[in-house]
Amino acid sequence: MPDRIVFKARRVANQDASGWRPDHAVLVNDGRIEGVIPQSQLPADIESSRRVYDLGDVSLLPGLIDVHAHMHCSATADAYRLVTTEPVDQLLLRAATNIRRSLLSGVTTLRDLGSRNEVAFPVRDAVRAGTIPGPRLLLTGTPVTTTAGHCHMFGSEADTLEQVVTAVRRQKKLGADCIKIMATGGMFTPTANPRSVQYPAEILAAAAREAERLGMQIAAHTLSAQGVRNCVQAGIHHLVHARWYHRDPQKGLDYDPVTAERIAKNGQYVDCTFGHMLIGTEREKAGAAPLKPHWSVASTPVSNEEHVENARDMRRHGVVFITGLDMGMSTAPFDQSSANARALVRYFDYSPWEAIQASTIVSSRALGLAAVTGALKPGLSAELMSVRGDPARDIDALTGCVDVVLEGRPVKLGGTPLV
Ligand SMILES: [Zn+2]
Repeated sequence: MPDRIVFKARRVANQDASGWRPDHAVLVNDGRIEGVIPQSQLPADIESSRRVYDLGDVSLLPGLIDVHAHMHCSATADAYRLVTTEPVDQLLLRAATNIRRSLLSGVTTLRDLGSRNEVAFPVRDAVRAGTIPGPRLLLTGTPVTTTAGHCHMFGSEADTLEQVVTAVRRQKKLGADCIKIMATGGMFTPTANPRSVQYPAEILAAAAREAERLGMQIAAHTLSAQGVRNCVQAGIHHLVHARWYHRDPQKGLDYDPVTAERIAKNGQYVDCTFGHMLIGTEREKAGAAPLKPHWSVASTPVSNEEHVENARDMRRHGVVFITGLDMGMSTAPFDQSSANARALVRYFDYSPWEAIQASTIVSSRALGLAAVTGALKPGLSAELMSVRGDPARDIDALTGCVDVVLEGRPVKLGGTPLV
């Protein structure tokens, strides 16, 4: 009996996450969704055969998917100092706290795109063993980067093609699900210029081939226009950020619609991280001091609007966005994955349902998990989150997570954490 469960809710998302089924019930057996039926069709003696949770006046959705976290980073203004100075046991504790926070905010699948191996893999082992609570974790372990390159302080430094291929194999051996490579420098790393590429396209392509040979996806961080072009040419599966900085520090961006069209044609996904930008602007509006810009972009400031305009054009060309917040970086807290969907509505004219789809069905498809999670569909793992109010009318409602169910097991009910 304990494995047969019913979750009743006032509004339950349909299979495509495109509309509500009013007063429905999700039937769960052994962690999987058996069906979703009107509450009126439940037999009168349902409680004799199933445990029944009446969630009440909430909107029940698939659990959120966030494709971009750094579990041991602090999400504070001093994130860089902490991750470069804290001992590993401190980073482990921080990571355990962070992933629990994500889970309780409604994230049931979390991809970590770069954390130290000695943190990421033991944390996943502990979650699997039931020692600590956490969402389903997909891991890259340490990202592949150049010597002194972006995130070198928790990366695998690899400069030549041979070294990069070896680094990919090492991550596989340690238990990585996927590979992260730093195609350009990044804002987080003082020694890595985001305007310049770290690898030529041939090396990125070798990494992609090796990842594929070992059955893994590869995601690449890229902030420069040439970096984006290299990732497109190399067949990188997921482009992270996909900003268009010009190589010349005296210039702003170097947007290229032909490359955008190729991203769409190739079916490469873009983890556009605009939720992170949205949280940053909201904080500044509330009076927080703006973060100091990286030296490489300080002399020619680029406005958020310019980045948004280019990403809007990418969308017009058919580029598909997936939802990664870059959790752990300054102003990207682990409990605010809902900012991804809010940003898609705010900046890119997504309908609220389209934004919810991006955070669920679309991201699960991009991760190769469409047959596992991401929708309220019979056969899939029962991963649910609920919010008060109606996020299909007002996407901001997605922020107030009330209930969370992971593999059929409630881990938060009525706003109260059970783990
Ligand atoms: Zn990141």
